Amino acid sequence: MPRRCSICTHPEQAKIDSALLAGEPFRHIAKRYGTSTGALLRHKADHLPEALVQAHEVRQVAEADRLLEELRSLQADAKRIAQKAERADSYSAAVSAIREQSRIIELLLKVAGELSEASVSIHVDQAWIDLRAVILDVLDPYPEARLALAEALDAR
Ligand SMILES: [Zn+2]
Repeated sequence: MPRRCSICTHPEQAKIDSALLAGEPFRHIAKRYGTSTGALLRHKADHLPEALVQAHEVRQVAEADRLLEELRSLQADAKRIAQKAERADSYSAAVSAIREQSRIIELLLKVAGELSEASVSIHVDQAWIDLRAVILDVLDPYPEARLALAEALDAR
């Protein structure tokens, strides 16, 4: 006889489901709703409607795509600004422009960190690695700035 699921019969089942869908750690949910990680695992695997999980993953992928789009546009901006500054021989303008870009990227990565799909983070990480390479590349004529930026990025 199948065991009765303590999550399906839980008064806060809807809230637990949305926490599970949001990818919150099982132990946090278990603690908040006075249940066990084992019950949560079983419930998510066997009872949480598959369609619901899939819909959420589709939204996450769409969100990741939007972030990647922004990263690409920032990447283009960083390149353009650095080239312009390079032509004008304005090294400090190039550096502050790039510093601003990396602040925005940091924010984007924080948002991306909220996405629980492992594959999503890998895509975003790859975009960051690409962008970082581009930034360091455009700073090539300015070894001092390049070094300062590389150190700042490593300290993140
Ligand atoms: Zn259940």
